[in-house]
Amino acid sequence: MPRTAAPPALPRLPRAADPDRRRTSASVVLRSVLEHGPVARSTIARLTGLSPASVTDYCARFTGLGLIREAAVPRRSGGVGRPHQPVDLDETRFVVGGVHVAVPYTTVALLDLRGRVLAERRLEHRHADPGPVLARACDALAGLLAGAGGRRPLGVGVAAGGWVDRDSGTVVEHPLLGWRDVPVRELVRAGTGLPVHVDGHARALVNAERLFGRARGSSSVLHLFVGNVVDAAFATHDEVHHGPRSQAGAIAHLPVPGSTEPCACGRLGCLQAELSERTLCRRACEAGVAGGSDPAALLAAARSGDLVAARLLVERARATGRAAALLLDVLNPETVVVTELGVINRPECLAALREAVGPDRAAAVVPTSFPDSVLAVAGGSVVLDVLYRDPLSASPEAI
Ligand SMILES: [Zn+2]
Repeated sequence: MPRTAAPPALPRLPRAADPDRRRTSASVVLRSVLEHGPVARSTIARLTGLSPASVTDYCARFTGLGLIREAAVPRRSGGVGRPHQPVDLDETRFVVGGVHVAVPYTTVALLDLRGRVLAERRLEHRHADPGPVLARACDALAGLLAGAGGRRPLGVGVAAGGWVDRDSGTVVEHPLLGWRDVPVRELVRAGTGLPVHVDGHARALVNAERLFGRARGSSSVLHLFVGNVVDAAFATHDEVHHGPRSQAGAIAHLPVPGSTEPCACGRLGCLQAELSERTLCRRACEAGVAGGSDPAALLAAARSGDLVAARLLVERARATGRAAALLLDVLNPETVVVTELGVINRPECLAALREAVGPDRAAAVVPTSFPDSVLAVAGGSVVLDVLYRDPLSASPEAI
């Protein structure tokens, strides 16, 4: 019987029976529901190459766990578990917590299984001692969960800049915060009683783009994060490159030709020193931009017609474009996602970024898919990535 044209297929699976295959099959089925839901089980089978019986079995397990449910579509005939009855994610039962630790503040949020931010709070740091910073984040998370309408938390994801070792759940080194060997996973687990996963924010955002954003379906994606911290992450297909002890993506001290900005490492013209929000704000203050000490105020000044503020943002976007061009030369990704203040908010900044990248590759460079909530999404995506990679282990049954 001829098949109708299928949407782009997920990777087909090997036939050998082993635990990896089982985990991968569960992951592929839940990802298929995320991407195509509401979707019939028979369609999932066609998209994934799994047998209809196997898809039905996984869908029954996910339904039992409360991760998916039969979509409310009127049908002509009755019966339970019919292959053409569409299934979709069940957004009513669970949330995940997201924590993002930035230099001046922590963002705490709740997200649903589609990576959408349901609630968010920003906590300014009184000081950057890790114990109190993380304790306040746990308290704020408890407050958000109390208002979650009975939805249960599946876990907490924590994202930060600097050198973050995912396997040990540790912030190994974050010089701008003054953190060294901070056992973040232990501290947040003790503070919340929930499963906790920790990763670098650029890697977290690569996963967010793969699962919920514009990079869905891209064979390779690079994420460039430009805030106070400047770092990058790279994924081919579904694998995010970590390197030994998760040190991959450290681009903070790449030299920027022509820059004389002093860096904390003792050299001049490092990428992070040149592009950091602190440098941007200092330049804005020196140039007399009102409220220039705060990035949001600088953006507001540009919006209200301050030409100096607008020029500073364009210059930073152009320098970000030169960094992106360098990384494109080295890694040649299909898609480059950039999280940077001006590029997210101002078309002229995105244009300057793309101009610096060059006409051949400009179309490959896109701003973040999460302009209003990128830090909250970074935190939540750390745990959502774990869920979608191994749904049967990360699900409530395992908690
Ligand atoms: Zn440096």
